[in-house]
Amino acid sequence: MSHDSNNTIWQVFNLINLAVIVYDNKTHNYILNQHAKTLLNINSDDAFSSDVFNNITLRDFNDDTVVTVEQLFTSTITAVLLECEFTPQLLNVNHSIIDDSVSMITLEQDHSHAEQYNFDHIISKISTKLIDIQNDNINQQINFALKAIGTVCKADRSYLFEFNTDSETLTNTHEWVNTGITAYKDRLQNVPKAELPYFFDVMNLTHLFKVNDVAQLPPEANSEKAEFEAQSIQSVLCVGLRFDKELVGFIGCDCVNTKRHWSKIDLIRIKLVGEIINNALKNINYKKKLQLAQEQLINANTKLNKLANTDALTDIANRRFFDTSLKSEIKRSARQHQPISLIMCDIDFFKRYNDNYGHHKGDETLKHVARALKSLCKREGDIAARYGGEEFAIILPATNIEQCHKFALLIEQKIKALNITHEFSPIAPYITLSFGCFCSYPNADTHTETLIKSADIALYKAKKAGRNQICIFE
Ligand code: GH3
Ligand code: MG
Ligand code: MG
Repeated sequence: MSHDSNNTIWQVFNLINLAVIVYDNKTHNYILNQHAKTLLNINSDDAFSSDVFNNITLRDFNDDTVVTVEQLFTSTITAVLLECEFTPQLLNVNHSIIDDSVSMITLEQDHSHAEQYNFDHIISKISTKLIDIQNDNINQQINFALKAIGTVCKADRSYLFEFNTDSETLTNTHEWVNTGITAYKDRLQNVPKAELPYFFDVMNLTHLFKVNDVAQLPPEANSEKAEFEAQSIQSVLCVGLRFDKELVGFIGCDCVNTKRHWSKIDLIRIKLVGEIINNALKNINYKKKLQLAQEQLINANTKLNKLANTDALTDIANRRFFDTSLKSEIKRSARQHQPISLIMCDIDFFKRYNDNYGHHKGDETLKHVARALKSLCKREGDIAARYGGEEFAIILPATNIEQCHKFALLIEQKIKALNITHEFSPIAPYITLSFGCFCSYPNADTHTETLIKSADIALYKAKKAGRNQICIFE
């Protein structure tokens, strides 16, 4: 073929409404007509190698596998999908051999199947994304679904409205708008339901609000008509979202630039997308409720635990907590080869105090003493507990007998500083305590009883020796 006739052929190829790609297997070059360049988004004027197709994704329409442009020349693929986010193009492929080295394919757009395939494809994308939705990406996914329904219904705007908790006002929570179209979301917050009486009458009755031409709305829809016209809306299509039969919101599409006669397929599609969004919102709602219930349960459990381990009068650890803590601290000390000390202390002549000042005053004093003991337990693991009546116990892990004795002295000073008058005590004009101290280097078999008994014996000695003093178990 001469150079001139070649040129003429390409001039003709550039005029026809078919994408033509010619491949020369001697030079490994491709030449594309104008339509092919537009379709594949290629800007070069020259012949080029296969690298130029790198950014193009094609799928074999029959088995949904990825294919390259090169493979179209060697296999018997009859239809491919050219992938783009919302508008994958279905292309019929025709393969012709021109001579030994040159072959040609033509790609023809197939509109008859493309749209439904396109929609199915989007729906499967939306439902996959929304099926196990988490709270943190719901907004992004709803925006994606709105863009999809807006695009396939050829609308200018699509949106989601949800009722507020008062059930009387509703808010435009998500919106997609086509290029050049005014967004209204920010202006449509907390809109009273009462402003759209006709809309909600129709919506409650049919779950659907379909208007091909806003100008043709009946007189009873004057309020809606005014609102639509204020937003230059010519056609509207909305579908309700329901939880347990109750209307909780709606999604919709508007046409601004042109009127649209909504087709049956538009209705099916918007209902389907509405259903998917509705399920995702329900899902999130259930998850939130579940989370709330779990949090409440955990809180209740924490409170219950605290209650079970706290002495009701003094609000410090009770006997039960003391027993389990002593057990575990002994084990820990044994593992870590550390000493553990225990102080048992008891208010002196407390019966006389009660008898003279009354039980209520006695209770107040117990609280003061308990608070003082607790305030001294600053290290992790130090525990002050009410052992019973007017007797208290203090667990001091990693504490030897000298340190334990010092701690008892600190308590003694602190109680003295409280200066709680006790005129009926024969040993001091204020409340005093007697202390029994014991320190152990426990092993895994050491019993709590051993520690308690020993500290108790020392306490008894302190009482015997005249009270208001510290005794160490020898
Ligand atoms: P001692 O110096 O030997 O310890 O003499 P005491 O009087 O403190 O000891 P005793 O065991 O004879 O009496 C303890 C008193 O503690 C009896 C009771 O009135 C009082 N008591 C025990 N539990 C409570 C309580 O929860 N509230 C009040 N107000 N008093 C209590
Ligand atoms: Mg006492
Ligand atoms: Mg006692």
